[in-house]
Amino acid sequence: MLNLCRQTLLASGQKVGARCIGSVVPKLNPPEILLENEPVLSYKKGSKERAELEKVLDKMACECEEIPLVIGDEEIKTKCVRYQVMPHNHKVKIAKYHWATPDLVKKAIDVAVKAQRDWDKVPIDKRLQIWLKAADLMANKYRQYLNAATMLGQSKTVIQAEIDSAAELIDFFKIHGYFAKESLKYQPISTDPKETLNSSRYRGMDGFVAAVSPFNFTAIGGNLSYTPALMGNAVLWKPSDTALLSNWWIFKICKEAGVPPGVVNFVPCEGPVFGDTITSSPYLAGINFTGSVPTFNRLWAQVGQNLSKYKNYPKLIGECGGKNYHFVHPSADVESVVTGTIRSSFEFNGQKCSACSRMYVPQSLWPKIKEGLLEIRNKLKVGDIRDFTIFTGAVIDDIAFKRISGYIEHACSSPNLEIIGGGQYDNSKGYFIQPTIVVTKDPKDKIMTEEIFGPILTIYVYPDSELDKTMKLVETSTPFALTGAIFTQDEDWARKALEELKYTAGNFYINDKSTGSVVGQQPFGGSRMSGTNDKAGGPHYALRWTSPQSIKETFVPLREYDYEYMRC
Ligand code: NAD
Repeated sequence: MLNLCRQTLLASGQKVGARCIGSVVPKLNPPEILLENEPVLSYKKGSKERAELEKVLDKMACECEEIPLVIGDEEIKTKCVRYQVMPHNHKVKIAKYHWATPDLVKKAIDVAVKAQRDWDKVPIDKRLQIWLKAADLMANKYRQYLNAATMLGQSKTVIQAEIDSAAELIDFFKIHGYFAKESLKYQPISTDPKETLNSSRYRGMDGFVAAVSPFNFTAIGGNLSYTPALMGNAVLWKPSDTALLSNWWIFKICKEAGVPPGVVNFVPCEGPVFGDTITSSPYLAGINFTGSVPTFNRLWAQVGQNLSKYKNYPKLIGECGGKNYHFVHPSADVESVVTGTIRSSFEFNGQKCSACSRMYVPQSLWPKIKEGLLEIRNKLKVGDIRDFTIFTGAVIDDIAFKRISGYIEHACSSPNLEIIGGGQYDNSKGYFIQPTIVVTKDPKDKIMTEEIFGPILTIYVYPDSELDKTMKLVETSTPFALTGAIFTQDEDWARKALEELKYTAGNFYINDKSTGSVVGQQPFGGSRMSGTNDKAGGPHYALRWTSPQSIKETFVPLREYDYEYMRC
């Protein structure tokens, strides 16, 4: 593809220069990849996929898989052992894992830096074939293992697991592969390819990439580590302690698909130990992070402090928190406001970074919206995710339970806040918190401005006459700008809101809930304190993990040092 033009010329025997060596840049032949999403299976009663999943759930729930560190081709166990438990039944351990010491993190860096050079020599065609094989294993042979590990370990219901650990993960592997392949088609201008051929190639980055992933999406772990690897990098993947089992399955699948040892090193570790060690290595080439603002800020600051040590300026990509909003206009369709908000705020317990956490409702629609929200909320079942009738499971761990219940206590004690639905919490068996709806008189109360990351929705009811003033609150209440939605049947107002709320969200929805982005359909990411907005699932994401090189090949030797105008 790259040098078709040049090679055609050579094949026809044309003499193009006194010392013609021909183009040396290799020709690529990438596999075919379709730009389409993985179908989401239904898991209806009696379906084949449900029967398969239940079998794996039963088996996995009785086991406690031991997960080592993997550095190069070595599986390592340390004295620092930790357990992952089921959030909805926290007495049950489902994985035993080992934390890396600082020396082991350093060893993984050495292995990765060496592996990177060989890996980058493997043509992208071949790397893409491995990624397609991995996607196929995820879609078929191991689909229910990924789903079961995500359900049991992260307390996701079947549908939440299927859209994450099956569909989104597979999409990241295939669609980022598609975009990588498409980007190779662009080649720079060669005004006369007989004389000079310009080309560009995408190298991996010189050093290693640290992928630090959150608990809430299995697919994010796979993307943060394996998309940089696809582009020729070697990676240290530090999975989240509370998503260890599902992330381990991704690692095992990719190994089976043919990702060579040392390309992605699986390094469970205590967060700060990992962060301190990678940021002090001269070989740090990039950090691919998703998680909270304080963690990303700390990593960024450490990189700043160590800047003089590095061989390269490390690339920093971070997708962080949000305080996502639904803004309701007086013309809105009440039913879609109600159902969209219930799903956005309470699916997976509001632990999606895009979950709706604050809502602005006009007084004129409030009675109907309130009635609708409470009616559905009262029907939502919370429990063990193996019961397929529940709406949502438990929150992820004790720390989350304390943080979220702290906001409920704040709501109980504040004169400006009223809990109108839910408010109960109980951690005796699992970390259960009931979907909670709060009404606030103060639109700037901390419950309306801070990220809670739990099943609490707070509503500010505004006088219809204060529509414009209330719109300003969206922008001025929080430092975040991740997702937001407007609900309206008024086209003129929708146009106005599209402009006025432009900088309040990286993903903006009109008459739809603020969650549920799909790879390749709504590339995802926010700006301001929500992150560097590099849009995972979009056409440019994979390229962020390359160090492009421009190559100029000249076939006509330069014989003169001077210019014609000088010869008078
Ligand atoms: P977190 O910041 O607590 O942890 C994220 C990862 O960082 C974990 O692997 C953790 O162990 C690690 N870590 C912690 N301290 C570290 C340190 N000092 N150095 C290096 N690594 C460290 O976040 P979380 O609770 O796992 O995830 C929830 C957060 O992630 C929320 O704020 C949510 O909004 C955000 N999130 C954002 C997106 C997005 O696309 N914007 C997607 C998912 C989650």
